[in-house]
Amino acid sequence: MRRSKPVVAIDGPSGVGKSTVAKGVASALNYQFIDTGAIYRSVAFAAKTKNVDWQNGAAVAKEAATHHFAFDLEGNLLLDGAPLGDMIRTPEMSEGASTVAKHSEVREVLLDIQRQMGINGGVVLEGRDIGTVVFPDAEAKFFLVASAKERARRRYLQLKEKGEDVSLDDVEKAQEIRDERDACREVAPLRKADDAKEVNCEDISANEVIQLITRSVISRYS
Ligand code: C5P
Repeated sequence: MRRSKPVVAIDGPSGVGKSTVAKGVASALNYQFIDTGAIYRSVAFAAKTKNVDWQNGAAVAKEAATHHFAFDLEGNLLLDGAPLGDMIRTPEMSEGASTVAKHSEVREVLLDIQRQMGINGGVVLEGRDIGTVVFPDAEAKFFLVASAKERARRRYLQLKEKGEDVSLDDVEKAQEIRDERDACREVAPLRKADDAKEVNCEDISANEVIQLITRSVISRYS
């Protein structure tokens, strides 16, 4: 299907700066920002609220199917119309999101929802499997990378800024577990799509990455 505006897919491991970059690119292009990790986080949150075990894929999928997911114009997730804010940004919900995300039943429910959100283009989606599974036909695909040490440092600073009581060591360990789970799961593992452009974010600022991606999209699709 030909879209009048492209789907921009930005994938990569946790802590690489995907959300900041995707939000900045969406704002520069005047596209909708869709943070797919927030959808997995809100499913973990909803399951916890109802005492549904994160390890039980069928039960979590059933719970997910009862909810409505949307994003406001700033890219904040609305669960059944209500913003969840920082309640889904805690280390506990990071762990919950990556646990519920390994179940094929859960991914199946969320796949259609994500596709509907981006089907007409003019969107920047960020996640783990956007370029490989959700939108394999995305017109522009980017895969962000940085060393595990640098990613843990960034995540640590982010959590500290939010007032979370964490140590760098704990953040590094939790990230290692999540990376391993995201990259080694059977369904839709974290992987660079063959036609994605790899962007090394180790030594460049988020602003520089935003400019690089924005220019690349504009040069090809305007
Ligand atoms: O990006 P974020 O850290 O918010 O994602 C939380 C978790 O959701 C990830 O660790 C991953 O397991 C899962 N996720 C996923 N596929 C996506 C986006 C996120 O499996 N497209």
